[in-house]
Amino acid sequence: MNNEKNFTKHIIGFIISSILLTVIFNMLIMPQLTKPNIKETNYSFFLDKLEEGSITMVKVENNEIQFKVESEDKKQIYSTGRMNDPELVNRLHKDKNVVFTENFQESNIFMEFLVGWILPLVFFIILWNIVIKGMSKRMGGNAMSFGKSNAKIYVKAQTGKTFADVAGQDEAKEALVEIVDFLHNPEKYAEIGANLPKGALLVGPPGTGKTLLAQAVAGEAEVPFFSISGSEFVEMFVGMGAAKVRDLFKQAAEKAPCIVFIDEIDTIGKKRDGNFSGNDEREQTLNQLLTEMDGFDGTKGVVILAATNRPESLDPALLRPGRFDRRIPAELPDLNGREAILKVHAKKIKTEESIDYNAIARATAGASGAELANIINEAALRAVRNNRKIVNQSDLEESVEVVIAGYQRKNAVISQKEKEIIAYHEIGHALVAAMQKSSAPVHKITIVPRTSGALGYTMQVDEDEKFLMTKEEALARIATFTGGRSAEELVFNTCTSGASNDIEQATKIARAMVTRFGMSNTFDMVALETVTNQYLGGDTSLACSAETAAKVDAEVNDIIRKSHQKAMQILKDNVEKLHELSAFLLERETITGEEFMAILNKESNN
Ligand code: ADP
Ligand code: MG
Ligand code: ZN
Repeated sequence: MNNEKNFTKHIIGFIISSILLTVIFNMLIMPQLTKPNIKETNYSFFLDKLEEGSITMVKVENNEIQFKVESEDKKQIYSTGRMNDPELVNRLHKDKNVVFTENFQESNIFMEFLVGWILPLVFFIILWNIVIKGMSKRMGGNAMSFGKSNAKIYVKAQTGKTFADVAGQDEAKEALVEIVDFLHNPEKYAEIGANLPKGALLVGPPGTGKTLLAQAVAGEAEVPFFSISGSEFVEMFVGMGAAKVRDLFKQAAEKAPCIVFIDEIDTIGKKRDGNFSGNDEREQTLNQLLTEMDGFDGTKGVVILAATNRPESLDPALLRPGRFDRRIPAELPDLNGREAILKVHAKKIKTEESIDYNAIARATAGASGAELANIINEAALRAVRNNRKIVNQSDLEESVEVVIAGYQRKNAVISQKEKEIIAYHEIGHALVAAMQKSSAPVHKITIVPRTSGALGYTMQVDEDEKFLMTKEEALARIATFTGGRSAEELVFNTCTSGASNDIEQATKIARAMVTRFGMSNTFDMVALETVTNQYLGGDTSLACSAETAAKVDAEVNDIIRKSHQKAMQILKDNVEKLHELSAFLLERETITGEEFMAILNKESNN
């Protein structure tokens, strides 16, 4: 591969340059370091010392004499110029003390070799190690393992997750249990001749526990578990993705029976399209994955799990039988699921005995497992903030709102006039909701502003989980959304920008009624829009002519106008209660559904 070549080049370059540097070090710096300490002196000093007989060593050169004088307490090397003195050598020779020498250094070859050659090399090796470590940290730990997949091998102790950590998701668990069981005793399946799927695809919205489920499988299966994320295949080097896939499957085959988990598979598994500007790297990786999945035989016991929240964008080749032929949905939890998830996470914190998890679960319709986990954590944080040692019901209720609408903005300054408008707006929603039969009961109304930008809101909580929405309920919801604006119009004879979110939501429902639910008067059961990504926000794309689109717009407008008129009528009929409730809300800032209903019923009884 390109990168392996590059890497070898790097190493060779490094070795050459460190040897060069060592040579330079030896030539230039070593002599300086080992140079003896020499004092300049004059010739007569030399002669004096010679007569004294205290010179022990001498080195005679063409125009310089170096000599060593040793007295009892010190040694010193001197240097002086050479005079024209032909008898000098004889005189020196006569003095039996003097030794002629070439070099004053008591040279130690071993030490020199050590200092001159080994030390620099050791130094460079240490330096190289530090550089590599720094590099690999920046590159995600694989600078030294080019061409290797870095799928981590999970074993039981490492993820620490089991199926007990996954609440709800019973269907998904059941399917996965079967796979784990197959890996434990394949004979049972082989006996009857059954083939287990080679691959299973976990699909569902973000935060529903797909990754968690895979980790739980790792914990349950007493087999090696390879886990890698789709994005890890697509790295900065071209060609690495395919190499990694190959390597991953090679490792897996060696360790079989085992499980391979590819998270966020849509990063590499996107549909290949015909245009030339396609991403070659990704396609190569995908092709390699397809080949590998065909290549190994299922009886060996390599099971491939993958997770994605964009199944519709996956290449059909990946989904055909023999590859990811089994789909395991991880849907948003229902009421029971939410309660179970809350309880699983509440085990990790200290709570009062009497917490009503069902109430919290009812207030969080549509929340994912991740959001519910977050709610529990927020509650614990709130308890700490309030200097309490355990979490109580109000912590949980408040944290539901924090997760839905953000933190309270306690010091936001809102003028009295605006506060009044907001109070009427919220009571408008609540009254319209309460006065319609097909509408969920009001749970709480507040005009405390939130960090999400909401200036107040009305929370409605259904008695029990709803899976279907009738036309009446849809219309009632639209009317409720228009209730806020209607109250502003009725009481203040004006309208504010505060209704923008209501408008958006009402339009969304009305549009879906016309284009997808077949609930309009103009069109029959015609699909005018298709949902393009079911699990990520549910974007839709229009599938009709421009004229039809214009009719759709007119119809949507019509539905909303009628609902708006209906809401207005409800408020007009109950204008006394509107005033009384708004004044009450303005004073209290937050009121419960019971308080709201009490005032509403008291009035109507009179
Ligand atoms: P994704 O589906 O996006 O991969 P994750 O598996 O990463 O979601 O879930 C994120 C977190 O949400 C988990 O770590 C866990 O704390 C929580 N969670 C999600 N679903 C569940 C569940 N069914 N039971 C318990 N916790 C869950
Ligand atoms: Mg995930
Ligand atoms: Zn509103």
